[in-house]
Amino acid sequence: MTNTKTEFGDACSHSCGCSHDLQKDTIKPLLIRIAIAGFCILISIITELGFLTPPEIATVSSLIALALTAYPILKEAITGLLKGERNVCELASLAIVAAIIIGEFTAAAEIAIILTVGELIEAHAYARTRRDIEGIITHNPRFGLVIRDGSIRQVNVDDIVIGDQVMVRPGDRVPVDGIIGEGHSSLDESCLTGESLPQVKGPGSPVYSGSMNQDGTIILNATKKYEDSTYSRIVHLVHDAGLKRPPSHPFIDRFSHIYTPLMLIIAGIVLVLTGSIIRAITVLIVACPCALLLATPSAVLASLGVAAKNGILIKGGEFLEICQSITVIVLDKTGTITSGRMQVDAIVPYGDSTASDILEVAARAECSSSHPVALAIISAAREKKIAISCSGSAHNHPGLGIVDLQNEKQVHVGNLRFMHDQGIEVPDGIIAEIEEQNLRGTIVVLVSVDRNLIGMIRLVDTIRPETESVITQLRIMGNDRLEILTGDSSQVANGVAIQCGISIDSVHSGMYPQDKENYIAELQQSGNVVCFVGDGTNDGPALARANLGISIGSREDTIALETSNVILMKGDLKSLPAFITLGKRTGRIILMNVILALLLNMILICGAVFGVLSPAMGAIGHQVATLAVLLNASRLIYQPIGSVSKEMHLDACDCVRCVPS
Ligand code: ADP
Ligand code: MG
Repeated sequence: MTNTKTEFGDACSHSCGCSHDLQKDTIKPLLIRIAIAGFCILISIITELGFLTPPEIATVSSLIALALTAYPILKEAITGLLKGERNVCELASLAIVAAIIIGEFTAAAEIAIILTVGELIEAHAYARTRRDIEGIITHNPRFGLVIRDGSIRQVNVDDIVIGDQVMVRPGDRVPVDGIIGEGHSSLDESCLTGESLPQVKGPGSPVYSGSMNQDGTIILNATKKYEDSTYSRIVHLVHDAGLKRPPSHPFIDRFSHIYTPLMLIIAGIVLVLTGSIIRAITVLIVACPCALLLATPSAVLASLGVAAKNGILIKGGEFLEICQSITVIVLDKTGTITSGRMQVDAIVPYGDSTASDILEVAARAECSSSHPVALAIISAAREKKIAISCSGSAHNHPGLGIVDLQNEKQVHVGNLRFMHDQGIEVPDGIIAEIEEQNLRGTIVVLVSVDRNLIGMIRLVDTIRPETESVITQLRIMGNDRLEILTGDSSQVANGVAIQCGISIDSVHSGMYPQDKENYIAELQQSGNVVCFVGDGTNDGPALARANLGISIGSREDTIALETSNVILMKGDLKSLPAFITLGKRTGRIILMNVILALLLNMILICGAVFGVLSPAMGAIGHQVATLAVLLNASRLIYQPIGSVSKEMHLDACDCVRCVPS
């Protein structure tokens, strides 16, 4: 990621249809051109008012102003015409050329200057959003200090391999994901999660690339290569999101094709009926629908920036707009409704195996998995000082468990269903015990070696502290239909549903990844717009299938990150109502913008048709409309996302069940 400027170049092409390259034509030269042209216009007006002589000064200064500002607009129009495209610059260019032909140089220059000012404002708005997104990217680490053969070497991040010992000094950025082997420190993970409080970490704690080491030197064991590390993946996602131009409203896409010819016809009719070329030109000037074309992109861009700053990554503007139409929100259980920070509660050995044997076998099998069950087992093994050597041959069965080969023996670690699927016999007594444990909300994982059960690991997972209030907020916001999908057993799932206020009729348990996807497809077939919120590999297909796939957390599960449309990087559920409210707010602003732009355009066109507006006034009115739309959209930037919860109460009053107090 060396040249973010060019990589983001496309993201900021002019959305008014006049797509001057704002990257080359950056704000400063634009400002200088506008300042000089403005000064020339002033001279021209003063001359026209008779304060300066000879009168030719007016013509000359207007022509200078025109030369400085009209060129990009005319060039764009000619390019568009040659390519057979319709763009609004053609209308503006026609107006400028017509004004020049009838000798209205000052009016022509005024139109060009005002359009350029509009372009400047727009360039500023785009630059701002781009800065927010680039802010995330600039944290990308380039080098790492690796300890090899007893000496410390600075190597390129791409040369760090899994298992390398990497030294991170205070003030350095962590180059790759890993686990701390030595040292304690606090790490600032704000560029990953938006969370500003540093996290205190010590031996055994996972650290993520891109986070900033603050006070102590740590030595970590690399668990991922640079390209697979958290930060590198986020950068790719942000980069892709940044490159995607906010989609124009389909209505506006179609609109551009009929609009230009329609306005030409109106201007023609005005010319024929009134015989006034000035009126016809004014129609062309005010007809340029920049305000309408900016209605959607300006709001979407503002919201993308606001969201990125608050740890919500949105991979395209359409995912904001869809928030208004969601009819069902489906939530995954483990790691989404629950914290996913499981803890081993008890280990029950069978036969002559010991708790340590079970933990060692299970931890070896789980060492390459990032599932909450795996993390809990590995951390329990570490606590017991059990050395874990990864066999490297484990095969993950999402939603079920893991198969591994250890010392030529086949090892299975997973739930009851997994054992059944694999044809491993589980005595009735153990099945009864599992069911009883599940009823208490305990998750049970069985461990077998060569198809003989050697023991059971019981784990507890707690519901996220914010889940209940988030569910309530979602309902207040009008999202009444909430469902749970889980690979876990119905007993555990029902217990969780009751605790967080979701009816057990809305719980679907024992679901394979494919089942989750199929269920979402069924919902869609019956006319629903589905938002799915998940966290793990087993959620990948469902996240991809849903109309809006939201994944939680920025770190562990890269499949979930890649298949989702929105990532809540803070790793908690609180950002979910915040995001949906931001989406709805964006939708409202877009609608408001479209109405505002249409209304102002129509008023201006009427003013031009009936001769109330002069060409210069028309040009000013046109730009006022554009400015109004941009200002309305900028309300999204200046309203902090923290205030979303306040607005939620406003939203709440829209719903019929609430009686405003
Ligand atoms: P959810 O769909 O609620 O997110 P998962 O599908 O991730 O839950 O997991 C469902 C169950 O599958 C877990 O409770 C556990 O019993 C089992 N399981 C999934 N992955 C593993 C694993 N790596 N090791 C052991 N058991 C697993
Ligand atoms: Mg999950």
